[in-house]
Amino acid sequence: MSTTRTYRTCPLCEATCGLAIDIADGEERTVRGVRGDEADPFSRGYLCPKAYGLKALHEDPDRLRAPLVRGKDGELHEASWDEAFGVALGRLGELKAKHGADSIAVYLGNPSAHSLDAMVYGQVLLRALGSKQRYSASSADQLPKMVTAALMFGGGLTVPVPDLDRTQRLMIFGANPLASNGSLMTAPDVKGRLDGIRARGGRIVVVDPRRSETAARADEHVAIRPGGDAAMLLAMVQVLFDEGLVRLGACDGRVRGLDEVRAVTARFTPERVAARTGVDAATIRRLAREHAAAESAACYGRIGTTCQEFGTLASWAVDLVNVLTGNLDRAGGAMFTTPAVMTGRWRRRSDARFGRFTSRVKGLPEMFGELPVATLADEIEGDDDARVRGLITIAGNPLVSAPGAGRLAKAFAALEFRVAVDPYVNATTRLADVILPPPSALERAHYDVALYQLAVRNVARFSAPTFAPAAGQPAEWEILLALAKGLMGMAAAPLAMADDLVVRELVSRELADMAEAGERVPVDAAGAVLALGERRGPARVVDALLRLGPYGDGFGARPDGLTLDRLVGEHPHGIDLGPLAPRLPGILRTGSQQIELAPALVLDDVPRLERALDAAPPEMVLIGRRDLRSNNSWMHNLVPLIKGPARCTLRVHPDDATRLGLVDGGGARVTSKAGEVVAPVEVSDELRPGVVSLPHGFGHDLPGVRMDVARAHAGVNVNIVSDEGFVDVPSGNAAFNGVPVTVAPA
Ligand code: SF4
Repeated sequence: MSTTRTYRTCPLCEATCGLAIDIADGEERTVRGVRGDEADPFSRGYLCPKAYGLKALHEDPDRLRAPLVRGKDGELHEASWDEAFGVALGRLGELKAKHGADSIAVYLGNPSAHSLDAMVYGQVLLRALGSKQRYSASSADQLPKMVTAALMFGGGLTVPVPDLDRTQRLMIFGANPLASNGSLMTAPDVKGRLDGIRARGGRIVVVDPRRSETAARADEHVAIRPGGDAAMLLAMVQVLFDEGLVRLGACDGRVRGLDEVRAVTARFTPERVAARTGVDAATIRRLAREHAAAESAACYGRIGTTCQEFGTLASWAVDLVNVLTGNLDRAGGAMFTTPAVMTGRWRRRSDARFGRFTSRVKGLPEMFGELPVATLADEIEGDDDARVRGLITIAGNPLVSAPGAGRLAKAFAALEFRVAVDPYVNATTRLADVILPPPSALERAHYDVALYQLAVRNVARFSAPTFAPAAGQPAEWEILLALAKGLMGMAAAPLAMADDLVVRELVSRELADMAEAGERVPVDAAGAVLALGERRGPARVVDALLRLGPYGDGFGARPDGLTLDRLVGEHPHGIDLGPLAPRLPGILRTGSQQIELAPALVLDDVPRLERALDAAPPEMVLIGRRDLRSNNSWMHNLVPLIKGPARCTLRVHPDDATRLGLVDGGGARVTSKAGEVVAPVEVSDELRPGVVSLPHGFGHDLPGVRMDVARAHAGVNVNIVSDEGFVDVPSGNAAFNGVPVTVAPA
């Protein structure tokens, strides 16, 4: 059987590996093989086992190929696209007309950040609906980092990333890149890149309550107590000030608030934080000195620092260490990417503003236009006229991924109407009234608009669909745009016309932002749209943003610059745009055009941390766990990714197991303020005593779930135990790590 080789970027995690996919000639829509694309300048042939899941996902019989609509019998039945759109828009329109746009909430799941269609047209739908009830996986993930980066450096996705390929020292807090493949740090073959640090004589330190896969390969593992990161990092900053080790380097003359930081951190001596962090004072001092003395160094924090009760403080403190050791914006330190696709948010100067509106029940501030998912149940429950009555989920399974899942499931069941744009009938969409399935990942164009903004090298790669969508199957962007125009009362308008309006508006906005920033191009919006030619949908948007970006042709301003035609035609494996380059001061978007070291929103939370330092820590706490073959809950329905020993186990330290009467392979009942689950015990000394660990994304055995493979590996839903009231207070981000629990034999 002959095959044709095609190339595309893997959309399954943040690493953006280039793949070479062999498809069978003559056999429609059949994948023969998936391997790493050796010619990809960024991933250089690397791929992880998840990539094989693309074939399984494409062929999965449980993946929906037609819309489902709930019938009078209460069951979901296949329907035509016309019928499904008719029901969805009819009921959403009624709710909007009768109770206002805020009666409909929207939740965007994590995969929407990996979908070009959803990245671009999800925003169009949100604007068309006009509801303040917006939620996403961000507030159960990285929101604290986005908040502190915006406050310190200005709007946009201005998160510094470790310059992995040149650093001589990497200090990792609460991240396990060997399992996650890197997050808020786009770095294919992260294992090879970490090994490279050690091979050139550098050093890796991992601070984590668990001896994770990454910690096990590091030079040093510091087993911190969950939730202790902010205190430990602030104690390191105290040492830097106390011992005269502060060096601003590239940030010299570009910071505000240094004296306030010195005053605040003076209260966090290593001795004071030792008990709460579980890290002795001498170790904290030594680590601060070593970091300051390194030839180059980067401090990096991820899920263990963001999804915990002091996520904002910890995220802030990570970058304090980068700035105060002179490692921000220098080779080998923490640097900013210069992505090929930028949006106006990168160009606008203004202080980050949060709290432009608040949640209805708890008065929580919006962040980046969204409310925390931890408060979604509050907004639905009750009989207040202003409550949420309808829900649209896009690539999301919040009843598995959001905190307080038991309560949230009851709230969802009480909603008047639910629409899901999703390929599966999962724990959440089983409650939907209409499910609109997008095509498979191999049937879409792809460009990593968000992830290339966090890459450890400047790169760009565009992927055309490997297969055309099946007959009659709309693209995901067409589904989202059809909903958007329907909600604007334009259901009868042609999709192409609506798409033209989207592009015209986007280009106009970009040109206005560029003009304000003093950048000129030789066309107006109409001329630019005309020059974009025949393309439609997100590919046209990528072309527009590429051409207006830092490497683009500026619609003729720089004739040799990038266009989508040039990227696809001349660089089918992607283009390497060079190592990270210094970006200060131009990257700064704060009103002061300085790095704001002491934002009020952050400093206001310090007393809460000090109170925690003085309180006795809980006897037992729960943390999450990541596996290389998993990222999203739907991956559990793919045989290549779920086969093997059961992964949804409660890992317990041997001392705790003995003390609590738990045995390996036996059952344990884990109870928190929010709920309880029973999970099989796996005794493991990788955890520090007093900490137990359960992975997320399981719990597939609910009535109505149509995922046969996942159901056979159902596991338990850790978010029955995670408490929606246990959050990082400034951002409202869910605290999945450090949840107080009791554990007993079941
Ligand atoms: S590391 Fe991520 S991007 Fe690379 S092959 Fe695996 S899942 Fe895909």
